[in-house]
Amino acid sequence: LQLRRKTPSGADLQLRNLRNDLMTETNPNYEFAGERYTLKDLRDVPREHLRLTRALGQGAFGEVYEGLYKMRPGDAVEMPVAVKTLPELSTLQAENDFMLEALIMGKFNHPNIVHLIGVCFDKHPRYIVLELLSGGDLKTFLRESRPRNDRPSALNMKDLLMCCVDVAKGCKYLEENRFIHRDIAARNCLLTAKTPGRIVKIADFGMAREVYMSDYYRKGGKAMLPIKWMPPEAFLDGIFTTKTDVWSYGVLLWEVMSLGYMPYTGCANRNVMSLVVSGGRLEPPPNCPSLVYAIMTSCWHPEPPQRPDFATILEKLAGCLQDPETLATPLKPMIGLTESGLQI
Ligand code: ADP
Repeated sequence: LQLRRKTPSGADLQLRNLRNDLMTETNPNYEFAGERYTLKDLRDVPREHLRLTRALGQGAFGEVYEGLYKMRPGDAVEMPVAVKTLPELSTLQAENDFMLEALIMGKFNHPNIVHLIGVCFDKHPRYIVLELLSGGDLKTFLRESRPRNDRPSALNMKDLLMCCVDVAKGCKYLEENRFIHRDIAARNCLLTAKTPGRIVKIADFGMAREVYMSDYYRKGGKAMLPIKWMPPEAFLDGIFTTKTDVWSYGVLLWEVMSLGYMPYTGCANRNVMSLVVSGGRLEPPPNCPSLVYAIMTSCWHPEPPQRPDFATILEKLAGCLQDPETLATPLKPMIGLTESGLQI
């Protein structure tokens, strides 16, 4: 409670100054596509051009807000944005991690990857300003779209495939730039809107950041690894390549086709590991078109080089979108499992 004081005492101020000195010494460097980047490569957003309007949720660092951003002082129109905040009393490590996240996102330039607008790092609380993706995350969206007794699904097979195409395009861009995401999953993708015309974007780079700082051991190590989305060579030998992301993408395909179920429902991570190592794979979700299941299983080839690249995955998805039988497949929820309570 002492630490939460609003007006800092002399000692607090001293500590803060010391920390600011340290910050300039230890600013994270980030390498992308062979170039080095630091804080000065990030675009500054003047704080006074930002208006935070409501809280969106809790992030890894602090609260994330919805806000409005005026590009120029006299502008009548304001742009909707998402603002990630770093609480004032954060550790130096958190400050660096926060900056690194901005550096990582700032180097991407692709319609299926969340766009960084800029940062306010001049003083506290520090902000990362992103394009607003108001449709929420892909997993929640899929769960909300399941058919119920009284109504069919609001989505059809084409909608699902289009979501998969969007994520694959983002992944292809990352692959081309030799960036390994390490946590491709429906929970880490956000939608521009829930309504038709929605675009899905890869929006969370937390795992790549943690590994870049090699601090994920500090935060609990293996316990926080997304085992159910990882190929054997990653959880057994710690080998991560673009083919790791391909495997995870296959699991994301399964998540989409199952309308947001937890992969290997009810199975603990250690059991999933032995299942997968001995050749076991996720079953096709109900009504999953065989062409789509074939893409999934190709992503789960035991030999990483045998897995397809994202260009091939996109070609296969285009094939699905041209196949009348695939497109006509009605969506069907998993049976015998309830919507309530349990994460299934
Ligand atoms: P974490 O760091 O724990 O992965 P995030 O910081 O990415 O979580 O996100 C926290 C909350 O803010 C989530 O509810 C997420 O959906 C929301 N959020 C994050 N980025 C955006 C964005 N660009 N647009 C809209 N909502 C966002």
